[in-house]
Amino acid sequence: MDQMQALFASVSNDGTTDAARVHARLSESGISSDDFRLQTTINRLAELGDRSIDLETFGALVGPELMMVKRALMRQLIIPDWVDFCCDIQTIYNNIAGDHSGANADYIPILRDADPEKWGVAICTVDGQRMAIGDVEIYHSIQSVSKPLTYAYALAREGAEYTHQFVGAEPSGRPFNALDLMPDMRPFNPCVNAGAIMTAGIVASGWPDKSARDITQEIMNLWSDLCGGLGSVHFSEETMLSERETAHNNFAIAYLLQGRKGLPRDVDLHKMLDLYLSCCSIEMTAKMLSVAAATLANGGVCPITGKEVLSTDVVKKTLSVMQAAGMYDNAGVFTLEVGLPAKSGVAGAVMVVVPNLMGFATFSPRLDPYGNSVRGVAFCRQLVDRFTFHVYDNLSGGHTGCKRDPRASQHQRKQRDLSDLSWAVSHGDRYATKVRDLMLACMIDITLADGDIEASELATMADTCAEIMGERPDPEDLRATAAARQHRSEALGTQGKTPFEELVAQLGEERSQLDDNGREIILEAAFRVACADGMIEAEEDLKLRALAEALGISTGVLELEIGRFQRQVASSRMAGS
Ligand code: GLN
Repeated sequence: MDQMQALFASVSNDGTTDAARVHARLSESGISSDDFRLQTTINRLAELGDRSIDLETFGALVGPELMMVKRALMRQLIIPDWVDFCCDIQTIYNNIAGDHSGANADYIPILRDADPEKWGVAICTVDGQRMAIGDVEIYHSIQSVSKPLTYAYALAREGAEYTHQFVGAEPSGRPFNALDLMPDMRPFNPCVNAGAIMTAGIVASGWPDKSARDITQEIMNLWSDLCGGLGSVHFSEETMLSERETAHNNFAIAYLLQGRKGLPRDVDLHKMLDLYLSCCSIEMTAKMLSVAAATLANGGVCPITGKEVLSTDVVKKTLSVMQAAGMYDNAGVFTLEVGLPAKSGVAGAVMVVVPNLMGFATFSPRLDPYGNSVRGVAFCRQLVDRFTFHVYDNLSGGHTGCKRDPRASQHQRKQRDLSDLSWAVSHGDRYATKVRDLMLACMIDITLADGDIEASELATMADTCAEIMGERPDPEDLRATAAARQHRSEALGTQGKTPFEELVAQLGEERSQLDDNGREIILEAAFRVACADGMIEAEEDLKLRALAEALGISTGVLELEIGRFQRQVASSRMAGS
């Protein structure tokens, strides 16, 4: 089959398709219908209405944007299993929605009176796949999220050498509004107020003829390019006025900077502060911030417009500063736990970059004592608990607690691992044989979880063995093995360990010799048997959790798998009804 036929086959049935179907497949890949890279295709689809599309029409239709269409339809975008990934994100979003801890910033009315219940998450990948849940269209002031981009702007206009004559790049370990400076009288970094006021000064000093408000407009244009013009960047006069009225601490910082080291090119202190406060008063939505974050993740090229907004070198420096100091005096712990460059603002936004993969933004106004959004930080933690996004997850040599990497297609990866294992078992490989034996023991113990040995469980066991060992054992032999194990377990009564407890102990001891794939295959085999009759019983659930724990697989990962299974069951029920 030639490539075009294969592409057509992926959206057609019996040699025909229609616009609705092509649209559906595109949106399943994460590509929105307003994506600039598919404008011709989308327009042509609209012209076709509900007419049927054959191979020839399809070829002409997608020709001009063939590469992009192919990447989307053939699951070649950075997150191939987009729908599954979105379901996982929804689960994490829901988990966090019930957290009402923390409090709104209350130093100005607009933040104090913001609805604290708002909760939104938006994601954009470096391939421009987008998703958004909850309150993602609400304009809010970006506050300190502006800081790294003002720094980037200073780097781009004035260069790193000049910029760093006035501001450092060290985490301060102090609250964001502290009056501390480094021994050489520079502020610690561009992400604390002192550093951000100084970066505003650097930028303002380079535009002697422009007002602070006009320079703010230039910076708003930068934000607009970063978010691919997804929405218009607003400015909140109300926020600006309140910020100015309450800026006593920021004034103190500005005077300190002027008194200690002097301001760049003797810029006017009021102009410098006005620019700083105006940048805090820029308003955007979580959706827009997610695309801006994705542009940073993509080295400065906006994924949805293809425009190079910042140079890679500027982005590299910006992300480094975000990593070191973006989460205020909690930046160290945040790096420890989440390991991603991020920036929060007191209105409740957090903007996070997963380099080379995606950017995301959360919005929820309640803050923790550091001034970071409680739900935003919780989301980052749970995300990194399930996916290999921590900057050092790739150090693990195969031991991440079996976190998921959405970059690889799970399905393709499993197929490959299974066929390798079956080949190795057939050649008597010791490692593969160990995996097989543990897998068999786990499957049998899950079969015994509810006391009966059911036919569907035996069949699943036999099928799984066939996949892994290349030969399908007789289900009746499996029944005999299981019955013998059950017998042993009953005979043991209350003395000593049950065979299941022995198995759990053995897994705990031997797991360090298994890599992630081996551990996953063992758990997956047990999981398949637990699901064999279409539901996971309480006893099976308990045993699965014990096995996962013994294998060092996080409960978060197991819960996502259970969620996927339940969705599969629900959708096959719907298809059947
Ligand atoms: N406008 C706030 C200030 O300067 C911004 C601080 C923040 O978001 N942490 O104090």
